[in-house]
Order: sequence, then C-alpha cells, then structure tokens
Amino acid sequence: MAETLRNCKGCGKLFMYRGVKFCVDCLEKQAEDEHRIIDYVKANPLCTIVDIVRDTGIDEKIVRRLIEEGRLIQAGLEYEYPCSKCGEPIMSGQYCDKCAKKLRNEIFEEQRRRNDRTGLRYRQLSVTAGGKK
Ligand SMILES: [Zn+2]
Ligand SMILES: [Zn+2]
Repeated sequence: MAETLRNCKGCGKLFMYRGVKFCVDCLEKQAEDEHRIIDYVKANPLCTIVDIVRDTGIDEKIVRRLIEEGRLIQAGLEYEYPCSKCGEPIMSGQYCDKCAKKLRNEIFEEQRRRNDRTGLRYRQLSVTAGGKK
C-alpha cells in the first residue's frame, strides 16, 4: 500500500498512513489507556463506567468504546454495565438483547415508512409527468 500523509483521527497530527487511522503516539496512548482500564476493573470488579472515568481520568467515550468492543471480556474479565436504554446489565455492545431487538424493529419500521413516502412521491411525480405529455 502506498504511504500517504493523513491527519490522525485522535490528535489531528499529520502522520504516515498505513491503513490505521491513528498515529503511533495515539496508538500507544490507546494501548496504555486500555491497560489502565483493564487493571482498574481487575482491582474494582464492581465499578461502574462512571467510576472508571473518574478514577482513571480517561475519556468516557474511550472507556465505553473499549467495553462495548468487548476488550474486557477478551482480557478475561466479566464486566457488566448497564444497557444504554433500559439499564439492564449487559456485557457487550450498547444495548441488551431486548432493546437491541426493539431498536432493530424501530429502524426497520422507520425505513419502511420512509420507503412508503418515497413510493408515494414517486407515484405523484409519474402522474405529473404523464399529465404533461
Ligand atoms: Zn495522533
Ligand atoms: Zn436494554
């Protein structure tokens, strides 16, 4: 792959892009943050995400992303945290199974509604176009 200069997604600095969106500094920092979070959860198995953010000083977005990606489970930790919607304890992703299913249905419904509307507009347009002839 050709090397190009890009702005790092983390710090915005220009760096040699090799298929990873972060510069070496940011990658190192991410690995460090990950270790700190894992160590913290090991020492405090009942901590909440709020505790992790407060005690490690790591940005909540980073903490959440790491947990949602299942990095703690990969590290052998069974960490439970609340579903973003209903608060049920979950171990990966953003929502519990119930909410994920509901959300999928909502998205499906929304898409269906949107398609209906598009279909309607399409019909109206073809009527107008036909009438012009
Ligand atoms: Zn960077
Ligand atoms: Zn839920």
